[in-house]
Amino acid sequence: MNRFCSSCGSAVHLTVPPGDDRERHTCSDCGTIQYHNPRVVVASIVEAQGEVLLCQRAIAPRRNFWTLPGGFLEYGETTEQAAQREVFEEAGARITIDRFYMMCEQPDVSEVYLIYQGRSLTKDLQPGPEVSCAEWFAPNEIPWNSLAYPLVAEALVMYFEDKVRSSEMPARIASHPKGVVSAVPRRQEVSKSLRRSIRRSHFSHLKEPPDGYW
Ligand code: ZN
Repeated sequence: MNRFCSSCGSAVHLTVPPGDDRERHTCSDCGTIQYHNPRVVVASIVEAQGEVLLCQRAIAPRRNFWTLPGGFLEYGETTEQAAQREVFEEAGARITIDRFYMMCEQPDVSEVYLIYQGRSLTKDLQPGPEVSCAEWFAPNEIPWNSLAYPLVAEALVMYFEDKVRSSEMPARIASHPKGVVSAVPRRQEVSKSLRRSIRRSHFSHLKEPPDGYW
């Protein structure tokens, strides 16, 4: 939040502008209004030969945890372009987008997440500066207890389940068990139903879940 006007440099103050219904930071001198709107984050579930791309974060927050390649939408680009750009920046892979897959709204942090489903023709990866490692994971190798955010787990679980259930992938709205950005998804914060769901979809052939799993 800027304390000074971006047009003339004078101090701004909070006031309800004429015709508006909420307080805005407004310049005392020239009247310029600062609008602060929610941010859009775009991520992708990328597949190559049945494996899914995950990136290990090299930076805070959630350093060393695995996440879907993604980031903030930039001015002047479409969300699909953002999805492709982020995968290239973070993992060095060129992808084609198959379809829009999931939305997750986070009004408490004023962010909207959009997740695309995409495909990479090669498995060659080149991790970018914000990523310590980019890797392909088979569904039964996903590092479930080292995922950066609950949304990543929820998106992957739904995705694998949808793939098993139907060839026609539906668009989904994530319920996100807890805050996506600020919450640390400790074991107990991942809902029981989500765990059951992961168990059902990936480990039904095993008596016990594999080592390292919840
Ligand atoms: Zn001003």
